[in-house]
Amino acid sequence: MPKTEVYLDNAATTPMRKEALEAMMPYFIEQYANPSSIHGLSKSPRAAVKDARAAIAGTLNADPAEIFFTSGGTESDNWALISGMQLNESKGKHLIISSIEHHAIMETADYLKKHGYEVTKVGVDSDGVVKLDELRKAIRPDTTLISIMTANNEIGTIEPIAEIAKLAHEHGALFHTDAVQAYAHIPIDVKAMGIDMLSASGHKFGGPKGIGFLYVRKSIRLPPFMHGGEQENGRRAGTTNVPGIVGMAKAAELAHATMAEDNAKMAAIRDHYIQRVEEEIPYCRLNGHRTERLPGNANFSFMFVEGESLLMNLGMKRVYISTGSACASGSLDPSHVLLAIGVPHETAHGSIRVSMSPGTTMEEIDYAVDSLKAAVGTMRSLSPLYDDFVKKNRGA
Ligand SMILES: *Cc1c(COP(=O)(O)O)cnc(C)c1O
Repeated sequence: MPKTEVYLDNAATTPMRKEALEAMMPYFIEQYANPSSIHGLSKSPRAAVKDARAAIAGTLNADPAEIFFTSGGTESDNWALISGMQLNESKGKHLIISSIEHHAIMETADYLKKHGYEVTKVGVDSDGVVKLDELRKAIRPDTTLISIMTANNEIGTIEPIAEIAKLAHEHGALFHTDAVQAYAHIPIDVKAMGIDMLSASGHKFGGPKGIGFLYVRKSIRLPPFMHGGEQENGRRAGTTNVPGIVGMAKAAELAHATMAEDNAKMAAIRDHYIQRVEEEIPYCRLNGHRTERLPGNANFSFMFVEGESLLMNLGMKRVYISTGSACASGSLDPSHVLLAIGVPHETAHGSIRVSMSPGTTMEEIDYAVDSLKAAVGTMRSLSPLYDDFVKKNRGA
């Protein structure tokens, strides 16, 4: 049994990298000055923010002037969608998103709908890949923005972003991507992939919570969303979160430095988990694409099992997972992502996501599978429905 807790909920948030915390520390008490001040004390924090901006731009093949710091993924998504739709109103008011976006996109699109915009949600196939034919048909002359996530937070499927961006541009629309699960996890090159706007969040890759950024291609004059100051080149008001920015940039640099090795190791552990679950636990279904998925994500549905009960049962064994996305937990509706890929209601309720970090070990995963197998077995042994099902299946 592993010595400490087995944390497999890294898609909800990650612990901070120690080096990122250490990099932040001087900017709380010693170099506390406001980088927008004119006096000498502001020089050092201003330089730190400049370096952080350049470091983050470097990881994306972007220009530092294209990086705008925000309070996180949610704000970046709100800004990109709301201001992005305001930008080209003379061309039209039609927005396209996918049916598996994060709530930060879904609910912002709903807000826009209430305020006179039209929204089309494009479907995905059973692996969670956006249907490109359906997308092509959904594009209209008045479509000004298409927003499709780079990788899904629940099922880990990676979307064909470069192809989607190309489609958008062929029809004169802008392309935004919520890359909160993908940035600093898989390689992203905004120029090569044709991305116009991209959202990212520090706490999903070993940085602090409450800090993120929006990449906006230089030629796009995206209107401000937060008003009240000249920070971020006049595009995002609010006193600069210097420690947050420094910590996020440090975490991003560290993640990019070892990304290839980390991902090879995580994918091997993930595939071991998938293989063991499929071999040892009957009547399960892997959700998401088998190969085009985030290296640290595995999402399974188990028939005749309640996800919430599984979560609690595993928690008693100090294995921490998620039943979908943290934002959706607490509600009784099954995940919109699982429904969109065609998982039946009942089965969707019996789904759990494990999301690993580069530090996750084979020992931890084996312990998690052992615990999961025992928990599913116990819960099914108490289910009369399961009993009938197995008998019928044997007879067939
Ligand atoms: C976590 C997450 C967000 C929200 O980011 P915050 O920084 O927590 O606001 C948005 N989109 C996706 C895909 C996420 O996983």
